[in-house]
Amino acid sequence: MTALWTSQELRAATGGTLASEIAANGVSIDTRSLAPGDLFIALSGEHGDGHAHVADALARGAAAVMVHRPVMDDPRILHVNDTMEGLRALARFARARFQGQMFAVTGSVGKTTTKNMLRTALSALGPTHAAVASYNNHWGVPLTLARLPSQAAYCVCEIGMNHRGEIAPLAAMVKPGFAIVTTIGSSHLGHMGSLDAIAEEKSDLIASLSPGGTAIVPDDTGMNPILARAAARAGDGSGCRLVEVGATERAGYRITAIQCDAKGSSFRLNTRDVALEAPGRHLVRNAALVVAALDVLGQETGLAIDPAIAALRTYRPGAGRGLLQPILQGQASLLDESYNASVQSIRAALETLALLPARRRIAVLGDIRELGAHAEREHLSLVPDLIAHADLVYCCCPHMGHVFASLPPDKRGIWQEDAASLAPFVLSHLKAGDVVLVKGSLGSRMRDVVSPLLAGG
Ligand code: ATP
Ligand code: MG
Repeated sequence: MTALWTSQELRAATGGTLASEIAANGVSIDTRSLAPGDLFIALSGEHGDGHAHVADALARGAAAVMVHRPVMDDPRILHVNDTMEGLRALARFARARFQGQMFAVTGSVGKTTTKNMLRTALSALGPTHAAVASYNNHWGVPLTLARLPSQAAYCVCEIGMNHRGEIAPLAAMVKPGFAIVTTIGSSHLGHMGSLDAIAEEKSDLIASLSPGGTAIVPDDTGMNPILARAAARAGDGSGCRLVEVGATERAGYRITAIQCDAKGSSFRLNTRDVALEAPGRHLVRNAALVVAALDVLGQETGLAIDPAIAALRTYRPGAGRGLLQPILQGQASLLDESYNASVQSIRAALETLALLPARRRIAVLGDIRELGAHAEREHLSLVPDLIAHADLVYCCCPHMGHVFASLPPDKRGIWQEDAASLAPFVLSHLKAGDVVLVKGSLGSRMRDVVSPLLAGG
């Protein structure tokens, strides 16, 4: 196996000093998940200083350790001026030597879903490297690139943001050939101020495309003139291709024949039939972006992409992101969406809940964070969706308290201040045939409802 990093490459990439000749097969920034043979990078940040774990990293079999402060004498120590900059230097070096196709995904919701769908599909065509989990920020993106094997054929990066100005430097590092924007929605509206500002930020990914690149956006970006303008610029004289995907007439890749039920979803994109074994219209939207990207790839490279489209069938949502699991000794089901929430994703989850056969459809919701002054309005906008799709609603946290109070009495379960206090009520009221959706922002700790449901089931 070719080493991911040799001493020579580490010195060339970072300009640092390293006394011994080593070969690293992975890159780690956390000794708890370090594998023997990894390069450990001692980052210092708000959550601690990796320099405190250097000895531990070596004891766990790290091939080398990158530091910017003398910690101990060891020939496996790579000394650089700044370890965060060192990580970015590895990312740029790994990107420069990579000859394969680079895909980058951003958007208000659906990044990880689309990234994972791409990983599933592209793996059917060749060796594919993709970001772990939601590694989409100032350290997640360079770490993903630093782990990119030079011999991979495909790489998929997720690019996220909480504040203005975060996407451009990450996009410049990733240098995508394919830039995919999944959605523009109100996630992080508190920090960003307006939907226009969010669209402006996402459009930086499209602006980063080099000539020959492809921008893939949903057709309803017409909703947002800024993203539409950036997308149009990409398609207009810049040597980039603009691909619009959706159900409207303007879409070059037109979605028709959508069918969703409890067993899965299917649709046609222009002339291709696509099937997923996971239910949800939002998954159709994400999968359509993926199939459009694959189709362009096929046209550009002459590759037959049918195996990639067939592989999409095997895509499954992850834990906390729409995984459907049995509870109550298999007599009821849990739609576990506890990892995070935005208005768009709660709406999508409620639509999915409505597809599932159930005696009662129960929604258990905690607050959406980071909406700032827009929080009240955004939360209350969900009331009609709850009335339409849920038979019974349990809520926790302050904003969901107002949602709860706005529901008709026959839909109200109970409201509690936090998820842990709510859990026993949900558990004790559960009956055979129920399907329970649990969703809220990470900070609302909806895991505190999911864990007892799973344990009690
Ligand atoms: P994060 O910023 O937390 O990394 P993300 O953009 O990676 O989020 P996902 O993890 O793919 O998003 O999905 C988050 C939630 O949004 C999940 O509950 C998922 O079911 C839902 N979702 C995914 N795609 C869409 C979509 N196109 N429209 C609405 N909701 C979606
Ligand atoms: Mg994500």
